[in-house]
Amino acid sequence: MTFNDKHEVLKEFFGHTEFREGQAELIDAVLRGSDVLGIMPTGAGKSLCYQVPALMMTGITIVVSPLISLMKDQVNSLVQSGVPCAYLNSSLTAEQYSKALQNAAAGRYKIIYAAPERLCTQGFLELCAKVRVSMVTVDEAHCVSQWGQDFRPSYMRIPEFLSHLGYRPIVSAFTATATAAVKNDIIRMLSLRSPLVKTTGFDRRNLYFGVMQPRRKYDALKEIILRNKDKSGIIYCSTRKHTERICEKLCADGISCTRYHAGLSDEERIKNQDDFIFDRKSVIAATNAFGMGIDKSNVSFVVHYDMPKNIESYYQEAGRAGRDGSEAECILLYSPADVRTNRFLIESSNENAGLDPETAAMLRQRDMKRLELMRDYALHEGCLREYILDYFGEHTAAEGCGKCSNCEGKFTEQDVTVEAQKILSCIYRLYQRKLRFGMTVTAQVLTGADNEKIERFGLKTLTTYGIMKDQTQVRVKALIRHLLVKGFISEDEHSALTLTERSAPVLRGEQRVTMRIREEKKASQAPTGTLVDKELFERLRRVRSELARTMNVPPYIICSDQSLRDMCSKLPKSRMEMTGVSGFGKVKTERYGDHFIAVIKEHLSSGDHSEYKYLQPEHFTSLYDAVSKNSERLVPLGESTTVRRFCDDILSQLGLNIKTKTLSDAVNEWLLSENYLCRKDNGRLDITILSDEAGITKENCVSEKGTYYYNILIDPQGQEFIIMNLDEILKGK
Ligand code: ADP
Ligand code: MG
Ligand code: ZN
Repeated sequence: MTFNDKHEVLKEFFGHTEFREGQAELIDAVLRGSDVLGIMPTGAGKSLCYQVPALMMTGITIVVSPLISLMKDQVNSLVQSGVPCAYLNSSLTAEQYSKALQNAAAGRYKIIYAAPERLCTQGFLELCAKVRVSMVTVDEAHCVSQWGQDFRPSYMRIPEFLSHLGYRPIVSAFTATATAAVKNDIIRMLSLRSPLVKTTGFDRRNLYFGVMQPRRKYDALKEIILRNKDKSGIIYCSTRKHTERICEKLCADGISCTRYHAGLSDEERIKNQDDFIFDRKSVIAATNAFGMGIDKSNVSFVVHYDMPKNIESYYQEAGRAGRDGSEAECILLYSPADVRTNRFLIESSNENAGLDPETAAMLRQRDMKRLELMRDYALHEGCLREYILDYFGEHTAAEGCGKCSNCEGKFTEQDVTVEAQKILSCIYRLYQRKLRFGMTVTAQVLTGADNEKIERFGLKTLTTYGIMKDQTQVRVKALIRHLLVKGFISEDEHSALTLTERSAPVLRGEQRVTMRIREEKKASQAPTGTLVDKELFERLRRVRSELARTMNVPPYIICSDQSLRDMCSKLPKSRMEMTGVSGFGKVKTERYGDHFIAVIKEHLSSGDHSEYKYLQPEHFTSLYDAVSKNSERLVPLGESTTVRRFCDDILSQLGLNIKTKTLSDAVNEWLLSENYLCRKDNGRLDITILSDEAGITKENCVSEKGTYYYNILIDPQGQEFIIMNLDEILKGK
């Protein structure tokens, strides 16, 4: 089996039709025999850059990867795609290990993943003497750099391993870390020979970026989770305590959540991680310990409950959303207290314990600077995506991305010079009294608040006390924050406000200050994405879960959510058509295609699969939503009937699978509020003098046992009347 067309390999094994940015170039370079260094963001598709050429070259490719979980994931995925490969690491028993070595020596694998510690062991070197190593790939190559966040000493042994081979294979290296220091380290430490260095754009178009500063973070979090119902999400917290608390609260609120942090036992950590990866739990609350080993492709949202300490960490963690290219959202829940927490964490960190005091101080200062830039992101008023890309040295046209919480909604520029002057002079007056306060007390002074601190420091006698009485403290704080971001004031290490050299021109009226104000405060919106038949999607998802269980791999290894969605829109009915689905190459189609095709066919032939037929309560966000869109198609029954039966009929016309009582209660409530009905002392409903108008009558009956009772009936015109008013009736339901 040899291939000489990279497109053919892409289609045949990986089921994709086009290369992404940078991939073709890197692959071509390798095939020409050149070393390469690929710097691409998480989720960009670095793996294909070495997997495709590995399949096209004679001999085997050795991939060095830092974590067992990463190797397992990659190998599992490749095996599902029909690529002969294996991994060699400490998770194998001695027996499995020697079996794998044997297979490798017999030329059964095209790709072998190995932990760096393995490389220079005797068994591994013996194997390498028996086979032709066409390429050595170093994945997560930033691990060789002490400047990177994940330095691994064992990566330093890679050059030694290369020298053992007796010949020099192609060396390719890949990372998502873009700083110059790391890049140069990689080239130097791995002795890359005039490599093609390819850095692709860091933009991840499928990610929506949002910052919220909610009064209650937990409520905001819950809202995000609920609008992403049943989808996978990660909630990053800065401390173990937060992780635990949030997990607990979410569980109590009926959300399927687990937790992950370094303080848990190995056993629990692995179990919780698996629960998340295997889609048994949809949400995981975690500290930043949860990360590098996670290649789960169907993470739909990443919420930062606490602000991380720099943009690098933020982008890396947020970038774990939407790896399969699906729409996903990344929301930062910011509160000013986050800055203080991080300052504390940086100050008390003993990460640099081994360093001399000067270097340690220098590093701490650098971390503080990075933290400031992270805070500026949270407070940034322009395009958030632009801010991030700018940070990584990628400058975009300043048009706004249209897909971040600052780009949606309208803004107006407001002149706030006078307010700025009031704030600055207040800080100045405090300074004259040798007093320095943070944002809160300053805002309290300006708005004329009255509390113990104000009394104690005699602040009421300040000339600036209460000069912004007409404004809320929230607004004054927002103004102060704005002045901080613009550098008109600054904060010292205790978060106390001070004037800067930029303050004077404002105070003298030489410099105007403007602020962008959002016109309508839209709640941060979920990305819309493409609409698919939810029922079919769920069925396909179940097929995937079952296959995953049988194969004992996580569902996303079988195929991505993106593939499932593609099936929903392409509706393949044969293997041939199945290969047109994104992610389905030849082997995957042969292996699994039929399972999905069967479900699709069944779905299509189940006759009435009109969009109404299968609506389940979880498929719409509110009763109002479900009914109002379709109320035009409703028709009354041909006869007078009770509210209950009438409601029953409406729901079956709409194909809604919910309790009739939910709707009939709403209808009755409305009839009561409009005085078409009244409630008697015994709680029963009765007619009023207006009932007639609404086509409502009372029918007296005698039961078989001889007791009297009555029914309230609505005639067809009355039913029509209710149908017309359904929107009103269900408002807010
Ligand atoms: P990285 O290592 O750069 O973080 P991966 O190699 O894990 O990214 O790829 C991320 C996802 O992108 C995978 O689900 C993969 O199947 C998908 N992918 C990679 N290349 C392509 C392509 N050319 N077309 C479609 N999907 C791709
Ligand atoms: Mg990768
Ligand atoms: Zn934007």
